[in-house]
Amino acid sequence: MAEQMTGVCRFCGQTIITSAETQEEADRAATMNCGCPGAEIERTKESVREELNELIGEMAPDNGWEPARPNVFNAVAELSDCVVEGTITSATLRISETNLKIGRNKGKISVQRTKTITQGGRH
Ligand SMILES: [Zn+2]
Repeated sequence: MAEQMTGVCRFCGQTIITSAETQEEADRAATMNCGCPGAEIERTKESVREELNELIGEMAPDNGWEPARPNVFNAVAELSDCVVEGTITSATLRISETNLKIGRNKGKISVQRTKTITQGGRH
């Protein structure tokens, strides 16, 4: 049963009262709703990882992409965290005949997977 709990932001310690089942869940809610820079970076990391899931993760086949192996997915997710933190400016990878680019555009993180199909020859 969910009850009223005090959640603490993992980055700045700000508290909120939230309805949660565990302290961890309450702290997560506090972190996800906090306006401090650490929490903002954390939210961006999470939304970039969601997009990666659509492009190379479990959801990739729904979007017409071949999913990457789990260890590749984890490696790319680590790289994307670095791009969000700014320790890496951008990362471009070649994954099974496609390009995946994680970069920054006008202050936002952009993630793109590109496939080039070429057909035809000489006659
Ligand atoms: Zn905070």
